[in-house]
Amino acid sequence: MLTNDQLSAWDRAHFMHPSTHLAQFARGEAANRVIAGGSGVFIEDRDGNKLLDGFAGLYCVNVGYGRPEIADAIAEQAKSLAYYHAYVGHGTEASITLSKMIVDRAPEGMSRVYYGLSGSDANETNIKLVWYYNNTLGQPEKKKIISRWRGYHGSGLMTGSLTGLHMFHKQFDLPLPYIKHTEAPYYFRRPEAGMSEAEFSTWCAEKLEELILAEGPETVAAFIGEPALGTGGLVPPPEGYWAAIQAVLDKYEILLIADEVVTGFGRLGSMFGSDHYGMRPDIITIAKGLTSAYAPLSGSIVSEKVYDVLMKGTDELGPFGHGWTYSAHPLGAAAGIANLNLIDELGLVANAKTVGGYLKEGLTAALGNHPNVGEVRGEGLLCAVEFVEDRIERRLFDPAKKVGPNIVAAMLKTGVVARAMPQGDIIGLAPPLCLTRNEADTIIDATRDAVEEVLGGG
Ligand code: PLP
Repeated sequence: MLTNDQLSAWDRAHFMHPSTHLAQFARGEAANRVIAGGSGVFIEDRDGNKLLDGFAGLYCVNVGYGRPEIADAIAEQAKSLAYYHAYVGHGTEASITLSKMIVDRAPEGMSRVYYGLSGSDANETNIKLVWYYNNTLGQPEKKKIISRWRGYHGSGLMTGSLTGLHMFHKQFDLPLPYIKHTEAPYYFRRPEAGMSEAEFSTWCAEKLEELILAEGPETVAAFIGEPALGTGGLVPPPEGYWAAIQAVLDKYEILLIADEVVTGFGRLGSMFGSDHYGMRPDIITIAKGLTSAYAPLSGSIVSEKVYDVLMKGTDELGPFGHGWTYSAHPLGAAAGIANLNLIDELGLVANAKTVGGYLKEGLTAALGNHPNVGEVRGEGLLCAVEFVEDRIERRLFDPAKKVGPNIVAAMLKTGVVARAMPQGDIIGLAPPLCLTRNEADTIIDATRDAVEEVLGGG
């Protein structure tokens, strides 16, 4: 077995890590951590440190680590048939069964699943579906996609453009011209302190309509949004937001893509965020919780309305020219079936709701009155604490002070992993959906102690 020193040297010399400060990492100034095992909500590193993973990897290990049911399903599939493609009508029992299971759980009106491997490639597919749809309908000028500032939809060329976070644009020449951004549904950062949630939602819908009119409604094809903002700050939408947005989209015949990569399969305490907030999507993006990341698999759930037009297109043009070698990979499909069965058997959607409520209440009780806590927010097991220099004026800290990263580092010392969200001093929590109340208490205590260490007791 390699020594830790050897691994660390190879890591710094040969491994290019995503979302990492490349120079600091190569010079040995930024930490590396080698994770060796996991069980339930805990992971273990090579030094034997056991950590409560309060972010479920990248909010993806929904059923928790070390589930033999999923590992066995993958192994059995690998032994009987590790791979076959899904082109020209091919499938496996696993990929067909999983498609039925997904559509059975999806919001009304959904009918087919197209598979990919990542949330990014699924959103890439979605944009192509939307363009094909409008071209088939004889509306070739209807191409622009509106997303929100602070939305996260991936980091490819198109999907990195959809993402509304500056770090994903800078130096990459993004966003591409077809992509437009509108206001984030971020009530804490509303433009006027006096606005109610409902007024703020109306304001967001008005801003969207202004943008559509400025661009020309005949050029706007789709709106993409996460039911609750994820990487942009873990922000549930303000009251009435989706109803107000949906009305604008309906008025101008603009399709709605619900990006449920984080919210799909239980995270908010409901199977899908679209149902949770009464959205009526035409396409839904899924990944992460679909297999709890035991194998890479993503999907685009396509509504009957969109699929009907795609069928018409292939009647005119012949086979649909879009495919990945690994679409509907049998190992991913086997993992997905075992994972969705586990979510049902363990009652994880209901658990996310009750333990998520408990976590938010506990964090609010522990930190709600701290002078530097601007907001404790959350829905199900998606929770955040946002820090500010002055809570009355909602004045932010100077980012150079690194308040968020310092709190996360202090939490790590006590054995709890949280995520410093990339834009703002925001501590993100999205643990596996099997979290117990005792484990929630551990997260609450670690957060309170870390805040006290970094900012004082208040
Ligand atoms: N969409 C959302 C809402 C996400 O949170 C993510 C990743 O975090 C993606 C898309 C992109 O998924 P991937 O990283 O698998 O490409």
